Amino acid sequence: LQSQHKVNISWIWFSDCVALCPVQDCIICMEQLSNPSSYETPPSEEGSQSIVPQAVGKFIKCGHTLHMLCMLAMYNNGTKDGSLQCPSCKTIYGEKTGTQPKGKMEIYSVAQSLPGHPDCGTIQIIYSIPPGIQGPEHPNPGQPFTCRGFPRFCFLPDNDKGRKVLELLKVAWMRRLIFTVGTSSTTGEHDTVVWNGIHHKTEMMSNMSGHGYPDPNYLDNVLSELASQGVTEDCLKP
Ligand code: NAD
Ligand code: ZN
Ligand code: ZN
Repeated sequence: LQSQHKVNISWIWFSDCVALCPVQDCIICMEQLSNPSSYETPPSEEGSQSIVPQAVGKFIKCGHTLHMLCMLAMYNNGTKDGSLQCPSCKTIYGEKTGTQPKGKMEIYSVAQSLPGHPDCGTIQIIYSIPPGIQGPEHPNPGQPFTCRGFPRFCFLPDNDKGRKVLELLKVAWMRRLIFTVGTSSTTGEHDTVVWNGIHHKTEMMSNMSGHGYPDPNYLDNVLSELASQGVTEDCLKP
């Protein structure tokens, strides 16, 4: 199956450094950059430049170096979502987007406090996603997907840190990162909408599932889960 996305990431996140770093290694294949990549040049699409095996690049932010063909092979082996993560230091380049189906994210404020956060009220998020047909980005394109347990109700403390998490969750929602279509690890059901690695607290006053309060580490944990998807405070700067 051919990807829908054209690969033109190389010209955006890399700077040429052929002359600058010949003795450094490629962080993907571990060969010296003065030796060519052992990946083959893919057949060039019309209008796109082809990459020669000698081409090397350098990540703009972290400065790690690699063969361009090794980079392309890594990109094509991944989710091809328009973003790339440096395999050495995990810095994310580009904007990672997910495969969350269309739906609605609503935010309400609740006066009652959460266990462990007695000094503030509560932010309630309600996610609604209706069932539909899987797109080309999903495991079984053209087949239906189900939605269990929707609308899903989630809770954050209405303090500074909780509000920051909320703003980042809005970014993650817009980037389609909160849910995905796949197999539920709880129920084993295939082709259903499931959480996508950014944990939410779905119980307000109880903690029967383990996804409730109190949990003193929760806000820090979810901030690092958001960061691992490329959603950080930088995304909130104008
Ligand atoms: P899943 O079982 O594939 O698990 C994916 C991730 O979600 C895991 O990291 C897991 O730790 C986390 N997770 C599992 N149960 C959770 C819960 N109750 N609240 C918050 N996070 C949870 O994911 P899934 O299939 O999307 O959800 C797990 C189950 O929870 C499903 O059976 C779903 O129907 C149910 N659920 C129900 C409601 C509801 O309001 N009825 C709300 C949320 C989840
Ligand atoms: Zn290489
Ligand atoms: Zn790096």
